Parts: sequence; C-alpha cells; structure tokens
Amino acid sequence: MVNALPLPCPRPTRLTLDLGAVRANRRRIVARVGPAVRVAGVVKADAYGVGLDPVVRVLAGDGCRDFFVAHVGEGVAARAVLDELGVSEARIFVLNGLLPGTEPTYAAHRLTPVLGSLPEIADWTAFRAGAGMDLPAALHVDTGMNRHGLSLAEAREFAAHRKSVGRAGIALVMSHLACGDEPGHPLNALQLERFTAIRRLFPTIAASLANSAGVFLDDAYHFDLVRPGVALYGGATVSGEASFLQPVVRLEAAILQVRDVPAGESVGYGARETTKRVTRVAIVSIGYADGFYRTASSSDEIPGARGFLHGVFVPLIGRISMDLLAIDVTDAPHAARGDVIEMIGPNVTLQDVAERMGTIDYEVLTGLGRRYERVYLGA
Ligand SMILES: *Cc1c(COP(=O)(O)O)cnc(C)c1O
Repeated sequence: MVNALPLPCPRPTRLTLDLGAVRANRRRIVARVGPAVRVAGVVKADAYGVGLDPVVRVLAGDGCRDFFVAHVGEGVAARAVLDELGVSEARIFVLNGLLPGTEPTYAAHRLTPVLGSLPEIADWTAFRAGAGMDLPAALHVDTGMNRHGLSLAEAREFAAHRKSVGRAGIALVMSHLACGDEPGHPLNALQLERFTAIRRLFPTIAASLANSAGVFLDDAYHFDLVRPGVALYGGATVSGEASFLQPVVRLEAAILQVRDVPAGESVGYGARETTKRVTRVAIVSIGYADGFYRTASSSDEIPGARGFLHGVFVPLIGRISMDLLAIDVTDAPHAARGDVIEMIGPNVTLQDVAERMGTIDYEVLTGLGRRYERVYLGA
C-alpha cells in the first residue's frame, strides 16, 4: 500500500528570484531613458531563466506593454499570460522572425514577427493579403553585426517602395548592437550612424536600437523604444553597471557532509587540487547539471568559484561534478551538515560567478538548473 502521508523529499538547492527587483530595475531604466521612450521587456529563454510567467506578470503589472521573445512558442506562452491579465493591447515581438508555415500561429496569438530577411517579408506580405488581416510586423535591419536583419542595401530598396512597406504592415524598425558592452568600441558609433540613416528612410515608423548595454550608452542610442533584457534580471553588461541595478537571483545549496582531509591529499575527479593543510571540506549539493559550470572548478594552478558561509567567503576545492562540489570551509569552522551555502547572492555576485566560470552573466542566468526549489519574492 502506498503511504498517504507526504514524505520529506526536499530539494537541496534553492533559487530565490526577487520579482520586486525586476520591477525596480525596469523603473530605473524608465527613469534613465525618460518619458518619451518606451521600455520593453525582453523575456526570451524563459525570461533569462528567471521565469516567463511571473516576469511577464510583474512587468505588465508595472505598465510594460512591449515584450520581446525569441521563439514563436515563447510568444504563445506570453500571450496566454497577458490575456489572463486582461492586457490585450500589449505587443509581443518574436525576434527570431518567421519560419515557413508559422504565419497562422502569429495571427492566432497576435504575435508580431521581427522580419529579418526578404523571404520573410514576402511570406508575411502574402499571408496578410490572403488572410485580410492588419497584423503588424517589425523590420530588423543589420547595421554591422551580420547576424539577423536586412542588409542596408535591401532596406533601402524595400523603403523605396512605400506600397510594399505598407503591405507588410511595418510598425517598428530595429537593429541590434554588436559591442554595446564596450562603450568605447568604434562599431557602436558606426551602427548608430547607419541606423540613423535607416530611420530616415522610414520617417513615420517607430525605431529601436538599444538593448541593456545601449540603454547605458549615450541618449542618442535610445530612439523610440529600448529593449533591455539582462539588466532587468540584475545582469551587468559593463562592469560597474551592476551597482545601478538590484540583484534578482539568489542561489543556495545544502551541505551534505563535512570531512577533514589530511594535508597532501587530492580532492575530486582528476585529482586537480591537493590540500596544503589539514582541510575541512564541505560536500555541497550542486553541480554542473544544475548550471554551475565545470569551468568554475578549482585546481592547484587556478582558483575557482567561491561560496559564502557564516560571514566568510569559502573557496571551491577541486573539480565540480555533476551533482556535487567541494568547498574548503576551514575558515568557517562551524560549517555543518544541513547548512546552506550562498553560491550566488548579495555576497557572491552574479558577476563574480560569471567571471570565475569564464563566461557572461547571461549564460549563468539562462543555465540555471531545473532541479532547484524555486521561491519567488515580491510578486
Ligand atoms: C536578446 C536581445 C535583446 C536584449 O539584450 P540584453 O543584452 O539582454 O539587454 C535585445 N534585442 C535583441 C535583438 C536581442 O536578441
């Protein structure tokens, strides 16, 4: 017979997500760009791992009416939340554009495709004519990143035929910065100059160039609408910028056991780190399967990530495994089984973790594991 009582089945890692901080970060961006500029919310990739549904709710509740996703399926999910909230006027832009055959999905869920090539424009125009719908689209023009978007020549050619612009129903002209996170990079000014010229070709259509990094560049980059993503989630694109934002993510993991390892012993796979003294080692329930990437491992040559416990920073020792990692808690002598170590939070910043993983805030956020207990604050 199955026991009817719920048995304890705790998740040893906890991810706390502060939605109040997401709201506060958007408000800071609103204050930064001023009342004439719309501040969209980029919620692709499950709102950078923070959670599409709760993030759309908090942003919509704070007046956000423009959302950007990457995939059409993400747009469908965002539309369901917005409909439930009764915010039917909100726009949802799908950055990855139009794959063949997806037009009816866009129409059914009132999603705005970001058209980035001539075949996409042709398909969308044909669909609009056939369906007799007036759903708008956005136009992505490439100004130097060479990833997505019409070339400058294609954009000029398209703009020269007002009728085709009208038939495609373009409501927003946008481009994307390649080096916004390097304020002094000459490509920024070049992209701005090219986008300014493109904008003149579509004088009556709203324009958008800035992602989070663009928000923090000169006001000239703001145009009519800015598209911050990572900044909403407390991620910095330029060092120092994080001080302007509130941290959103807190990651904590439980200590499963504490052991004393004699000097001269190695810890973990590959025996990459050797104890220099009698070392108190905490075995912690988090690993690379939780998005705590192996690149943050520690070795005799290169220190790895660190945690925070009982008021002190405590360094990783040895390689990160799939479900476990080891932390040298010699300097936190009261560390005990069941204690919880801060792996990301107010002391161990997201920026610090990203740097020690050899990556960027974005990748840490979007890699956050699915095994965590998730706690939302400030909803
Ligand atoms: C992801 C993305 C954004 C948001 O970028 P952040 O750097 O996270 O602010 C804006 N625009 C486009 C085209 C994107 O792909």
